[in-house]
Amino acid sequence: MTAYRSVRDLPVEGKRVFLRADFNVPLEAGVITDDTRIRAALPTLRHLLERGASVVVCSHLGRPKGKRVAELSLGPVARRLGECLPGVRVLLSEDVVGPQARRRAAELAPGEVLLLENIRFEPGETVGDPSLAEALRSLADLYVNDAFGAAHRAHVSVCALPKAFPNPAIGFLMQRELEYLSDRLSDPVRPYAAFLGGAKVADKLPILRRLLAKVDTLGIGGAMAYTFLLARGVSIGQSRCEPALQEECLHILEEAEGRGIRVLLPLDHVAAPSLEEAEAAVAVVGPSVPDHLAGFDIGQKTAAEFASAAAAAGTVFWNGPMGVFERPPFDAGTVSVARALANSRAVTVVGGGDSVAAVHRAGVAERISHISTGGGATLELLAGEALPGLEALRTRS
Ligand code: AMP
Repeated sequence: MTAYRSVRDLPVEGKRVFLRADFNVPLEAGVITDDTRIRAALPTLRHLLERGASVVVCSHLGRPKGKRVAELSLGPVARRLGECLPGVRVLLSEDVVGPQARRRAAELAPGEVLLLENIRFEPGETVGDPSLAEALRSLADLYVNDAFGAAHRAHVSVCALPKAFPNPAIGFLMQRELEYLSDRLSDPVRPYAAFLGGAKVADKLPILRRLLAKVDTLGIGGAMAYTFLLARGVSIGQSRCEPALQEECLHILEEAEGRGIRVLLPLDHVAAPSLEEAEAAVAVVGPSVPDHLAGFDIGQKTAAEFASAAAAAGTVFWNGPMGVFERPPFDAGTVSVARALANSRAVTVVGGGDSVAAVHRAGVAERISHISTGGGATLELLAGEALPGLEALRTRS
C-alpha cells in the first residue's frame, strides 16, 4: 500500500479537492434503484469535509459517448448525495468544465460539495484529450481517486488528470480494494482456494492462468466448467461450452496437476432440456450430462465439495455464478457457495457483478470479508495487469 498516498496523509484544510468517485448507479426512469455506490463514497467525502476542504466531485454514469444525454444526468445523484450528507451544501454544475463549473468551483466554501455533470458528456474523457485534463486541473488544488471500478480505463479523469497534480491520493474505498485484492490475495493465508464460474471462458482464462501460481485449490463451476469437462473427454450433453477453448483449458488442468493444485470440477449437475423448461429440471448424478439435457447448475455433491474446500481454506476468492442463478431452481449452487464463504473462517473476497449479486441475494454480504466493487478492474488486477488508473496514482519520489 506504500505505493500509494492515502487521503489520510493529504493536508486538505482550506484546499479544494478534486474527488473522482464512481457514481455509476442503476437508474430506472430517473430514479436510483441502488445507491450503494453513493454511500460507499461517503467515508472519503466526510473525511475531506470534516477537515475543512471543499470538494469537486466527478463521476461517469453509463455510456453517453461524448454527448449530453438527459437520462444520464447526475441530477438524481446530486439529490441523493445531498440527502446522504445532511447539513452539507451539495451543488450540481450543469457542465463539466464550462463556465458554470468554473464559477461554482471558485465560489465553493470549505465544507461544501460541487458535483460536476457526467464526465462522459465530454468527448475528450474516453480518448485521453490533454486539454480536458488541463481544464479539470484548474478546478482544484488536490486530487483524490476513490473510483476503483474505473481504474482499468485510460480515461482522462483517472489517468491523465492525477498525473497533472503534485500528490495524487487514494480514497478509503480504493484503499480497501487494494488491501484485499493486491495485498491479501498476493500473500494469502493458506490454503488459498479460488472458485470461478460464469459463462465467458475467454474472459476468465487470463485470471485462471495467474491464479495457478498462487492457489492450492481451484474450483470451476458455471457454464465454463463444461468446456473443461469437454476437454477431459466427459460428455456434456447440450450444456453451454466453447469447444475452441478446450485445448487451453486442458493446458490449465495439466499445469494445475503439475503444481499439485486440487482442482474441483462438477461431480453432478442440475440439468434440463432447455432453460425455458425449468420445471423439467432434474438432478444428474455423476460428471457426464445426458445427450438431451444441458447443465444449468452444479449439483449438491459438487456444492458440498466447494463448501468443504471453503471451510478448510485460509483465503477464498470467488468470481462468477455456479449456474444460471437468475432462474430458480438453477440458483441453488450459487447460493450455497455464497453461504459456504459466509460460514468459512477464511478471509473471503468476492468480485464480479453476478457473484456480488448472489451474496446479496443469499443475505450473507455482511459475512464476507470483502466484496469488490470493481467488475472489470477487479479481474484485470487479479490477472496481473497494470491498471492505468492505478499506475497514475503511484507515489513519485
Ligand atoms: P460471466 O459474465 O462470464 O460471469 O457469466 C455470467 C452468466 O453465466 C450468468 O448470466 C449466468 O446465467 C451464466 N451461466 C452460469 N452458469 C451457466 C450454465 N451452466 N449454463 C448457461 N449459462 C450459465
